[in-house]
Amino acid sequence: MSFNTSVAQVFERMAAMLELTGADKFRVNAHARAARSVGDHAGDLEPIAGDEKALTAIEGIGKGTAAKIAEFARTGTVAEHDELLAKVPPGLLEVLRVPGLGPKTVKLMWEQLKIESVDDLKATIADGSLAGLPRMGAKTIDNIADALAFMADSGKRLHAGVARPIAEMIRARLAEVPGVTRVAYAGSLRRGRETVGDLDFLVTADDPGAAMEAFRGMAGVEKVLAAGETKSSVRLALPELGGKRFSADDSASVQVDLRVVPAESWGAALMYFTGSKDHNVRLRERALKRGMTLNEYGLFEDDGGEGSPQSRGVVPVASATEEDVYGALDLAWVPPTMREDRGELDAADGGTLPELVTLDDIRAELHSHTTASDGVMEILESARIAKGRGFHTLAVTDHSKSSAIANGLSPERLRAHIGAIREADEEIKGISILAGSEVDILADGALDYDDELLGDLDVVVASPHAALSQDAKKATTRLLRAIEHPLVHIIGHPTGRLIERRRGLEPAMDEIIAAAVEHNVALEINAHWMRLDLRDTHVRAAAESGCLIAIDCDVHAPGDYDNLVFGVETGQRGWLTKELCVNAWSKARLHGWLKKGRG
Ligand SMILES: [Zn+2]
Ligand SMILES: [Zn+2]
Repeated sequence: MSFNTSVAQVFERMAAMLELTGADKFRVNAHARAARSVGDHAGDLEPIAGDEKALTAIEGIGKGTAAKIAEFARTGTVAEHDELLAKVPPGLLEVLRVPGLGPKTVKLMWEQLKIESVDDLKATIADGSLAGLPRMGAKTIDNIADALAFMADSGKRLHAGVARPIAEMIRARLAEVPGVTRVAYAGSLRRGRETVGDLDFLVTADDPGAAMEAFRGMAGVEKVLAAGETKSSVRLALPELGGKRFSADDSASVQVDLRVVPAESWGAALMYFTGSKDHNVRLRERALKRGMTLNEYGLFEDDGGEGSPQSRGVVPVASATEEDVYGALDLAWVPPTMREDRGELDAADGGTLPELVTLDDIRAELHSHTTASDGVMEILESARIAKGRGFHTLAVTDHSKSSAIANGLSPERLRAHIGAIREADEEIKGISILAGSEVDILADGALDYDDELLGDLDVVVASPHAALSQDAKKATTRLLRAIEHPLVHIIGHPTGRLIERRRGLEPAMDEIIAAAVEHNVALEINAHWMRLDLRDTHVRAAAESGCLIAIDCDVHAPGDYDNLVFGVETGQRGWLTKELCVNAWSKARLHGWLKKGRG
């Protein structure tokens, strides 16, 4: 585990333990924010751990946090963390992870029933003592029991690439229900996160009951978890789609929630259920400062009345659209992919939100495989799909010889392949097919072909495939060497991670980014939903440094072109603009850049 990850975990645990021991909200939030800042930071913090100035220059790290980072670097622990750990039973942190259980309830369970672990909690459900707690009705206990059973089959999150097609199916189904006037999904899926816990749907409907009934009766519903007038929850079995592995850890079902909201609350509800939680906390803080209250029904003037404003019939200042609500808080509308409390509200306040790259901006695919290595399409078949998507350029980049399992090309085979690519390019009109290679970056950073052969290629994508568990120092040296190679254009899936399956390389990303800027090399966001590598936080650091980014589908089969959306959303989450994304450039500009290093 990297230094940053270890430190982030310490802060995360501290935030949870502070909450359980009744510390004030601001201290809890400060620790949670510190955890995210450290976890998201691209550069290794260990070398600057003793440098308070350098640490506090990082957004979200104050003096107190900096001192704790220094302490951790020196001693391998943080005294305050250990003191808290002595007060809070470790099993209680597990209880906090049970869906639906907040720190207030967990604290009460601990104090009144001596619940210190998930097993204790189960026992109090079994012997009926849990029912003795305040506000602990039969329905609530049922839900906890259900959540525990669901957790046993794990803390599972779905890959976005699995969740999205399912969400699209549900959206289409709901849109067909008579009387349903509007359908949207919210939550982490709308924010473009790489994994998704459950699916949240909102609808407006003339007949809410009918919408609810249709939802609970959908094909694939295994269990109805809640059936209210305005909210239903179901557990949906994941459909078998081509025998593919669907979830990050093989879970077989997903929870889907549906809420019917009043049309006039649509914008406020969509914001509320899209999150992120931290983004919403910031918005509510902003509303409070202006003497207003923000909730899922709207933004209300604070009139000092008792109870919620909507229940008293108070008319909101803004609620119907997201634009209205942000606008009434003097903010520009924030794209969902940016709503993570990573400085987007300051940007929305100052009018400096970046113009994010969009799916429509993408005009080139620079990383694709054919039957020559491990793809399933011929060159022209792939080129026709790319052309059909409005692309001006497709680079064919089959594997190099060391990727033997992927049928990597020997130098002789690559020479013949270059000929075949040139012929295909002659044959098709309306798109340029470029000859390239996805050349292996060997463990020591050398490339898998000699310079003479690389110099004959239009596009060189250099990627790490083997030795992905080497240490951070070696990984940094390895990638730097590839970036410094004058014939390399793009570093493909720079860390080689697979989401929730393989950690991949952990190079000093700030050094990688600085070198890429210096050598005019693009770092790739591999759009496959198992990879999304670079990840969002690394893209953000890269974009801030003016580093070029390539968003590529790493095409092996026709359907892979559809993965582009995941790459684009990852780019947006990293605040990537069209200007820095080479796939969004005009043909002339892209082809000009590709001349780099070639006489
Ligand atoms: Zn690859
Ligand atoms: Zn590839």
